[in-house]
Order: sequence, then C-alpha cells, then structure tokens
Amino acid sequence: QGDPQTPPPVPAGRPPFDVNAIRRDFPILSERVNGRPLVWFDNAATTQKPQAVIDRLAHFYAHENSNIHRAAHELAARATDAYEGARETVRRFIGAASVEEIIFVRGTTEAINLVAKTWGAKNIGAGDEIIVSHLEHHANIVPWQQLAADKGAVIKVIPVDDTGQVKLDEYRKLLGPRTKLVSVTQVSNALGTVVPVHEIVAMAHAAGAKALVDGAQSVSHMRVDVRAIDADFFVFSGHKIFAPTGIGVVYGKREVLEDMPPWQGGGNMISDVTFEKTTYHGPPTRFEAGTGNIADAVGLGAALEYVERIGIENIGLYEHGLLDYATHHMRPIKGVRLIGTAAHKASVLSFVLDGYSTEQVGRAFNEEGIAVRTGHHCAQPILRRFGLETSVRPSFAFYNTCEEIDRMVSVVRRLASRRG
Ligand code: PLP
Repeated sequence: QGDPQTPPPVPAGRPPFDVNAIRRDFPILSERVNGRPLVWFDNAATTQKPQAVIDRLAHFYAHENSNIHRAAHELAARATDAYEGARETVRRFIGAASVEEIIFVRGTTEAINLVAKTWGAKNIGAGDEIIVSHLEHHANIVPWQQLAADKGAVIKVIPVDDTGQVKLDEYRKLLGPRTKLVSVTQVSNALGTVVPVHEIVAMAHAAGAKALVDGAQSVSHMRVDVRAIDADFFVFSGHKIFAPTGIGVVYGKREVLEDMPPWQGGGNMISDVTFEKTTYHGPPTRFEAGTGNIADAVGLGAALEYVERIGIENIGLYEHGLLDYATHHMRPIKGVRLIGTAAHKASVLSFVLDGYSTEQVGRAFNEEGIAVRTGHHCAQPILRRFGLETSVRPSFAFYNTCEEIDRMVSVVRRLASRRG
C-alpha cells in the first residue's frame, strides 16, 4: 500500500526512448473516442500498428503482389523474396537456428492446434499425460483436451499460488514417466504473471517430455531466445506484436518438425503427387498447405524490424515503469482488488472494483475514451481460481504513458468515491 500522491520509484537513468515520437508512429493513437483522445489499454487483446507496417502492406499490394514460389515472373520473385525475408526476420527475432524452423500460421490458436493435430496425433497415446498450467489461455487448453479425448490421454494442471505464480514444487510432482508434453504460457494474458519457462522446459526435458511455450503475451515485452528457452515449440501471434491479424508463427526444433506429419494437405506442401502416392516437402513448407497469408507475413516482418529499431529491452524497461506506476496508484484505492501480484509481471493489471460489475467499469472507461478489456479474457480457469468470472484488464504497450494511466486512475477513484 502507498500514498497515491507519492510518485512510485521510476527506472533509473534516461527514458529509453522518446515516447511522443513513438506515439506519432501509430496513427490510430490520434483518434478521439467520446470526444477524448483515445487511450489504448487493450494491448493484451491486440496491439496497434505503426505506420511502417501499414506502409509495408500498401507497398506489397502496390508493387509486389503475387502468389509465391510457383512462377518464373518478376512479381512472383518479389513476393517470394518478401515472404521468405519475413521468415528470416522472425528467425532472427526469436533466435532460431534456421528458417526451416519457422512455420507461418494464422496465430497462436492455429499454432497450438497444428502441434496438437500433428505432433500430438503421432506421439500421444492412451494413458499419456499432458501438463498445462492453471494460467493458460483457452487456446492452450482446448486443443489438448480434444486430443486427450481422442486418444484417452490425461491432462494435468500445474497449480498457482495466491500471487498467480506457478508452483514449481507441485509441477515437479506432476512429472512422471507418462508425461509426454508440457505446454505453458510465458506470460499470463489474464494476470500478467511471467512464468519461469526456462526451468519448466528443463524439468520437462529431464522427465523425457517435450515442451511447448505459448509466447502470445511475451514476445512484445521481453527478449525471447528460443534456443535459450530450449522449448521444442514456441508459438505466437503477429497481431499482439504490432503486426496484422491473421498471421502467427510456430517455431519448432528442426528434428522435431522433421518427424511430424503434415496436418493439411494441398498445394505448396508437396514435392510430388500421383494418384497413388504423395510425397511431402520438408519443414516448414510441409506445414503451409495452400496460399498463405503472404502480405501479412511481410507485415509481421516489418513489425519485428520496427521493434528491433526501438529495442525490446528498452520496451520492456519502459513498460515495467508503466506497470509499477499503475499498480502503485491503483492499489490504495478503496474497493479495488488487484488480481495477480506475482513478483515478476509484464504489462497486465487485472482488477475488480467493489460495487461495480466489470462491464460497468469498462463502460465508464469508454466514456472517457479509455479502451480496456473486461470479461474472462479466454482464461476462465485462472479467474475462477481467484473466485471471479470476469475482471477489468488494462494492458500496456510502449506507446502508453503515465498521463494515460492518470486518466484511468481518476475514473476508478471517481467510481470508488461515488460508492462511498
Ligand atoms: N495464448 C495467449 C496467452 C493469449 O493471450 C492469446 C490471445 O489472447 C492466445 C493464446 C490466442 O491468440 P490468437 O487469438 O491470436 O490465436
């Protein structure tokens, strides 16, 4: 608890970048909503797009648009170069060893479904165990449940403590000879908890299991090095890191991907087709049947290059300051209950306010031009763990400011004081 008038500790040293210049890169941040400047605090749901990404998409459609890989003509070469260039940018951004380990998909949901439908179908059998954590987004629960139902496998859940952090000692007890896969998020979308995935993956491997890390909420906030994490799969969505919707990534270790059957059949993914027999390309093409989302993959490359120019460490440092500032000012407000108080958090502040439904708080924010998520955030099990069906979830990005947080806090104070 602290005095709301006392500024919280701010990160030492110079601000890592000029946030006003950053904000000018994002045209939508100049929108007005209900007569007020838009405050976009719904970044965990999706992020806004910088002009560099918007321009890159326009350039693609104006100068490069073609299907890829198939033709001898100039535009096919331009489009293929742009698409494969984006794959290389993703590889570099997450520290993968090879572009063959980078598969383009629609997003995290499709990524996890791909792994469940291919690796899972081949490697999970009756009585095998899949471990997830209590923090997971539905996208990292439902595909495993479907697979378990098909195969007669068992789902086990790593519990969390009252701060919303996973209990590693309980996890250790869940691991056993039947554990085939451990699939955990790196950052909780509902609470912001940063999960110790390096340890979790190492423990999974020590037990002879494979590991998947859901990076949907982590890639835009912290340096991700897939070789250091050492997970067999790492997945994320472009739209949560300033790229377009409809594009995402499965990173898989080459030897794991090579041993996986394709999941969709069709053009692109084959090396030869007769009516008797089809042979498939190696990864990643084997997993990219049909015409993919070429332009948005190129947009993802542009978004990652934009983030690289600012520096992900700078972004993480600045956002950490925002989260500390918001937590410091929200916590003392009478009637506010913060959910998720782990020592290590990224960008998400989840709360409920006595006397108000989360929907009412969301509407009050909207009247002031402030966009936050209210609801169950596709993570019902973790909210229920804290006795809730819904929460209010402001989530920050590096284009947000302390002034915007002040605007949010003043709405909460006003609502809290009305309740008396
Ligand atoms: N996993 C986590 C942790 C998420 O936060 C989300 C989206 O909110 C997803 C998975 C699903 O991502 P998408 O809807 O982009 O497929």
